Amino acid sequence: MFLVKIFAFLALPIFLFASNLDFTLHKKGEDKNESILLVIGGIQGDEPGGFNAASLLVTHYKITKGSVWVVPNLNFNSIVERSRGLFGDLNRKFAHIEKDDPEYSTIERIKSAILDERVDMVLNLHDGSGFYRDSYIDEMRNPNRWGQSCIVDQEQIEHEKYGELSKIAEDVKEHVNKNLLDSEHIFGVRNTRTSEGDEEMAKSLTYFAIQNNKPAFGIEGSKSFDTPFRTYYHLLALERYMQIMGIEYERGFEMSPVAIKNAIEDSAQKVVLYDNKFLLPIKDVRNYLKFIPVKKDSDIEYTADHPLLAIVKKDKDYRIYYGNKGVASLSPEYLEYDDSLNTIDVNIDGSEKVVSFGSMIDVKSNFLVKSKKGYRVNIIGFLNPKKTSEADIIVKKSNIMNSFSVDKKERIYRVEIYKDDKFSGMFLVNFDEKATTNSPQVASIKE
Ligand SMILES: [Zn+2]
Repeated sequence: MFLVKIFAFLALPIFLFASNLDFTLHKKGEDKNESILLVIGGIQGDEPGGFNAASLLVTHYKITKGSVWVVPNLNFNSIVERSRGLFGDLNRKFAHIEKDDPEYSTIERIKSAILDERVDMVLNLHDGSGFYRDSYIDEMRNPNRWGQSCIVDQEQIEHEKYGELSKIAEDVKEHVNKNLLDSEHIFGVRNTRTSEGDEEMAKSLTYFAIQNNKPAFGIEGSKSFDTPFRTYYHLLALERYMQIMGIEYERGFEMSPVAIKNAIEDSAQKVVLYDNKFLLPIKDVRNYLKFIPVKKDSDIEYTADHPLLAIVKKDKDYRIYYGNKGVASLSPEYLEYDDSLNTIDVNIDGSEKVVSFGSMIDVKSNFLVKSKKGYRVNIIGFLNPKKTSEADIIVKKSNIMNSFSVDKKERIYRVEIYKDDKFSGMFLVNFDEKATTNSPQVASIKE
């Protein structure tokens, strides 16, 4: 039986800021390896097969020999907007870019990764139109289409190990073609012969790479497929390139479109605001959440456990994205923050626990937040008989209005702690499935 494993996301927390989403570079495998594979996804924001494949490489592959660097979100701003390129085509800015171009620093940063002397191969993942074929079959299957192919700019370059670009691409093509889901999906090799006068391709990432003696390939899924199918073919090709470089890996899911779909859906778990002050789980989250404490006079600051998770300011609200999917909108309440407290004592189903802010506790029946001098407890959606702090009260699920839950399943609720008007932090309470779901009733106050 295939053992499903999810590898922990080991990279450093990704600090991102709302207004400008920078790409992230994830270094996997052996630290001091001299021969690195660099994989780039999301150069165009409307090609989810490529950026999801690169993301799965980050989240669900363990590199056991060799090293792989992955940029799963090169054009992150365009990914969340489902745009090919918000500031024009990023893959046409490698020969020349104006200094005042908003993507200038993106180009400079990715060029320096490509030029790192240890990088021995560069893969740029795309979703192309239709199906590439050597000869014309019909409108969607012909030599001018890009889908289902490995792209090389020329047959070979000077390189000690991987200079035979066409031969390597042919090898990858054969590997993919042994694993087709349908014989119509056949993979090809397309040589753009860029140096012979293709002015557009001469501005591209892969051509920049080969000009600098770095073996580089495009991989094209097909826009005719759903994302899991595109991702399947990307991963097949990626794995063959890794094998060619002697890179060994373990994959945390079975290689099939269904398993890939599940892996994509399950891998983004949470965002955390301001260094563990506020936790938000992503799965089943409500579409719209109100009164989210955001620091006064500053932009929202967060960490996410997935490279495609982002929070973006949208008019008065903030919006959470997972790749190109909008997950939830957050209506902010601008507050000052208090940094004097990181934990609070809570009685959970009868046992005393110290609960850290930014965490989630499981509750079978009830909980009680212990009062702490100088601090006020606010359970969001709780029917409060005292109108002051909600500490020292036994709280059951039936005491909280369902509509205030964080999740659509109406099981997860926010408990927030304040010092005067300043927000000190919060934790989440996750009620057991069997916890009562009656209409709200006034809670009992502990004597
Ligand atoms: Zn593309």
